Amino acid sequence: MSRQMLPTPVNRAVEATKFPFPLPEWLHARDGRNTRELLLEPAKFGLGMVPGKAAPDAATTMVCGFCSTGCGLNIHLKEGAAVNLTPATNYPVNLGMACPKGWEALNVLDSPDRATTPLIRDASGAFQPTDWGTAMRQFTARFKDIQTRHGNHSIAFLSTGQIATEEMAFLGALAKFGMGILHCDSNTRQCMATSHVAYKQAFGFDAPSFTYDDFEQSDLLIFIGANPCIAHPIMWERVMRNPHQPMIVVVDPRLTETAMQATEHFAIAPKSDLDLLYSIAHELIRNDWLDREFIAAHTNGFDDLAPFVADYPPERAAAISGIEVQRIRALARAIHEHRRVSIWWTMGVNQSHQGVRTAQAIINLCLLTGNIGKPGTGPNSITGQCNAMGSRIYGNITGLYAGRDFLNADDRAETAAILNLDPAVIPTENSWPYHKIVEGIRAGQIKGLWVIATNPAHSWIQQNQFNELLGQLEFLVVQDMYSTTETAAHADLLLPAASWGEKEGTLINSERRIGRIKKVVKAPGQALADFAIFQLVAEYWGCGDLFRQWSSPADAFEILKRFSRGRPCDITGIRDYAHLDQRGGIQWPYSEADAAADDIAQEPFSNERRLFADGRFFTSDGRAKFLYEESHPNPTPTSAEYPFILNTGRGTVAQWHTNTRTAKSAVLRKLYPERIYVELHPDDAARLKIKPGEEIELVSPRGALRARTFVTPTVQPGQVFVPLHYETINQLTESVFDPYSAQPSYKTSAIRIQKTP
Ligand code: SF4
Repeated sequence: MSRQMLPTPVNRAVEATKFPFPLPEWLHARDGRNTRELLLEPAKFGLGMVPGKAAPDAATTMVCGFCSTGCGLNIHLKEGAAVNLTPATNYPVNLGMACPKGWEALNVLDSPDRATTPLIRDASGAFQPTDWGTAMRQFTARFKDIQTRHGNHSIAFLSTGQIATEEMAFLGALAKFGMGILHCDSNTRQCMATSHVAYKQAFGFDAPSFTYDDFEQSDLLIFIGANPCIAHPIMWERVMRNPHQPMIVVVDPRLTETAMQATEHFAIAPKSDLDLLYSIAHELIRNDWLDREFIAAHTNGFDDLAPFVADYPPERAAAISGIEVQRIRALARAIHEHRRVSIWWTMGVNQSHQGVRTAQAIINLCLLTGNIGKPGTGPNSITGQCNAMGSRIYGNITGLYAGRDFLNADDRAETAAILNLDPAVIPTENSWPYHKIVEGIRAGQIKGLWVIATNPAHSWIQQNQFNELLGQLEFLVVQDMYSTTETAAHADLLLPAASWGEKEGTLINSERRIGRIKKVVKAPGQALADFAIFQLVAEYWGCGDLFRQWSSPADAFEILKRFSRGRPCDITGIRDYAHLDQRGGIQWPYSEADAAADDIAQEPFSNERRLFADGRFFTSDGRAKFLYEESHPNPTPTSAEYPFILNTGRGTVAQWHTNTRTAKSAVLRKLYPERIYVELHPDDAARLKIKPGEEIELVSPRGALRARTFVTPTVQPGQVFVPLHYETINQLTESVFDPYSAQPSYKTSAIRIQKTP
């Protein structure tokens, strides 16, 4: 079997793009190999190798478990077990492509630090292996003891966007309806909460409207705070397939890999995006570059928006953003003159002190110009984790299943009826969001914490403070596939979990496509699927009878179908898991009526579907809302003592989040810099007499770290950039949150730079 990419139009058409500035040897991973060569010539870099495995005798397809792109992977099997993988050529997402993480998805499962047995911390502080029965008895005894002494709400859980939808849905039911846990959140708070709230307020439901085909249909694509070349390389390859010679605009403080390939780069001042977007709305309205028919028929609030943005002329945005007035006007004109405009965003927007309003300012531009519901259009939030979308809709964390509300008695009654539960077990109040749970630990209100498939000791903002708080807990349980995460180091009890590839279920990608994951490898030792761990917890907790219908992931999927019936995310038309295989994944909504229409039509099923083609939104009157409020200055301004702005983000295409999994692949490790580094502008380096490659100290009021210097004009003077994958990065970041989404703002911490002694 060849490990070469199969030819696709993009493979034939494109060439690798090189980093245009000199790169030191230790940073070669940042060059064009990240974006193109790695995708086009994976074998050259050793990707896809599974040394010593037998030749396959069968194959199956499942989706990748790293990022939200949701690529289809052909898993090659020998006697039912995976021996290799290749990107699926007929999967509608990736069309035969995979990034290095996908190629290495099987290899990261083999690691000496896999958690293979439950581990209990002994009196000396060392982990001691134990059996599941002992672990579960300790789990229930310690947590119940805390609840007895401090009340039900004194234990909480922090979950993830990395496990299957069925697992997160079961966890949400078990914890909230069976264990009496009220306060819980997911690490999707760190990446997607802003988009969730922005869509829900504007459209009446958390509903990203796009499909990946829109990358290929737009004639103007605007990326705001998004670097798909690195973060979503397969999506970027879809852009490269666009046959319309599109104009590509990147709005980002950094000259990112994506900005290097764009038609225009707006090197905006950090956190001035809201002012820029309002000024574009100002220009569209001033020039009457509007789709007045769409506004009149399908929106509310235009009459108030117009006078509001009248106060945001381009001159005001120019003074704040550093973007010239004529360029702002030209961008507004470009939006007017192009026929299919799409605006895409990720963390540069979401991780902000005013992220929700910024996302809604993007939505406003699309509503003003009618760029929604049609091919190549839309205000499009690209999700991060492989199942952030599952968490948002079916996690049962911040809201009840399928967009229902804990505060709504009818929704609670409906939920109880579907699950055959006493309505009294459904909480009548909302959970605290993540940062309130952290504050609850500080205040002594949260005494026990269960952390599932996430690594907050690395990833949560203001790390020193968070890790100190972990020490205040009476009992910390970590459930993870590895025993060596930064968070596991604090745990009293570690529960070994099976990983992607070792269990069954579904994931939902950025374009709302539900795809399967499958058990193609046996989990090591005593590690169990998260679903099975939750079943054990239910039995030992004494509430197993409440959850008998959650007997398997497939049964859980049937429960979720019942919750979805008649909702915007209706999936009642999906017959079963096999149906997902047949269709190459299915985007929601897909109701029974949709399925029946498909069967009658006997035509090829449309695998690229977008929302709002009829102009009807999910609000009570069917109209989308213009939402806005005054912009606010960055709450973490620079000062004489801390004169630099620290930006964080993804470093290379070979790294994933806290590097927990990607560090386990020898191939991936060769593709990213081993040590933490900082991008520093040449003018600042010269002024501070810092040499390229020199180790320097970055200091904020909250902590300090050492990093090697990469002197490069990709950052602006007065700004530095450090990738988020290295353990110490969040010693510098500051606890600032969006007021509506409670998402942390990781992008603009004030720091100083000093030479190391
Ligand atoms: Fe996996 Fe994302 Fe890479 Fe696709 S782009 S192979 S989903 S990590």
